[in-house]
Amino acid sequence: MKYHVAVLPGDGVGPDVVNEAIRALDAVGRRFGHDFKYEFGLIGGISIDKYGEALTRETLQMCSRCNAVLLGAVGGPKWDDPKAKVRPEDGLLAIRKALDLFANLRPVKMLPLMENSTSLKAEIVRGVDLLVVRELTGGLYFGKPKRRWKTKSGSRRAVDSMVYTEKEIARIIRTGFELALKRRKKLTSVDKANVLESSRLWRQIAQEIAAEYEQVKLDHMLVDTCAMRLIQNPAYFDVIVTENTFGDILTDEASLLSGSMGMLPSASLAGIPEGKNPRAFGLYEPIHGSAPDIAGQNLANPIATILSTAMMLRYSFGLGKEAAAVESAVLNVLEDGHRTKDIMSDGMKQAGTIEMGKLIEKRIEG
Ligand code: NAD
Repeated sequence: MKYHVAVLPGDGVGPDVVNEAIRALDAVGRRFGHDFKYEFGLIGGISIDKYGEALTRETLQMCSRCNAVLLGAVGGPKWDDPKAKVRPEDGLLAIRKALDLFANLRPVKMLPLMENSTSLKAEIVRGVDLLVVRELTGGLYFGKPKRRWKTKSGSRRAVDSMVYTEKEIARIIRTGFELALKRRKKLTSVDKANVLESSRLWRQIAQEIAAEYEQVKLDHMLVDTCAMRLIQNPAYFDVIVTENTFGDILTDEASLLSGSMGMLPSASLAGIPEGKNPRAFGLYEPIHGSAPDIAGQNLANPIATILSTAMMLRYSFGLGKEAAAVESAVLNVLEDGHRTKDIMSDGMKQAGTIEMGKLIEKRIEG
């Protein structure tokens, strides 16, 4: 089977980690008889330098012609001027909106052998295996009116709008239920229904859709309670579904549970991942940024990006067995004691980006 992957390495460590993810995908291709074809494009600072835009129409068209997108990271001090007209992150927002990538999935799993590399106590993070499903194309970040103005008296005002349609809420809630069905069948819908009207609609729609998913246990939690519970008792959660802004904050908080930014993958899907072998179009990227402090030095941890390709295999190509092969290859390499610098501890063997990629490649090949 042939799969077309659009590859946007981006800036900083983006190219370092994306190279290793391609190495892993090629190993999957050799072992399972699939043909992965890559088309490369620019996004972020490197695209601004070449074209004056963070994402060109041609690159966007190339992405929509493919079956999935693999992205590295964007940004860096070179493009940090707050007065700049174009910023690397504009490319991220543009691609999410243009490709209707409404569901952002961020799994956080604490591997027993990594328990001591987080800033939280081992007994708190033990057994953590959760998935945050964040709405990505609506709410405060996109809602209108969104503007700033001066009143007659000359004082400044600004407004952002947390707007949600029934359709937008229903598709992300359904995504949460579908994913919970394939896991421990527990869905926590997070809102602020005690204060916000959009949250009250959110909660009502979640309750209505729950009738279609009797096997899944649904609970509702206020976002402030959720922020607290994530640190107090993170093992409580299976799947969390929430709106854009709440999800942005909660996913960053949840990422702390696992030790290093270099370990966490993500998927942003344009369809509901229904059934046993979902085939939703999606964009896959590590959760970390461009890490300019270590870019090009063979120091970046490629595991987050490699695990993102496992998500691509599972959610865009319907290749669950192949995805599991990538995940267990990563686990085996960690069990063998190999670590990149960010997750290094006493008695372990340090590996660079490329060495780590090659170790995982070898394990995938079996
Ligand atoms: P960052 O995630 O790039 O780095 C934070 C820290 O984590 C740094 O010390 C870095 O060395 C380390 N780190 C990150 N990824 C790592 C990896 N794979 N292996 C080992 N260590 C890793 O966040 P930042 O420093 O706040 O931002 C740097 C740039 O990235 C900024 O321009 C920011 O706007 C951009 N950014 C981009 C994205 C994205 O592309 N999705 C996300 C966040 C930040």
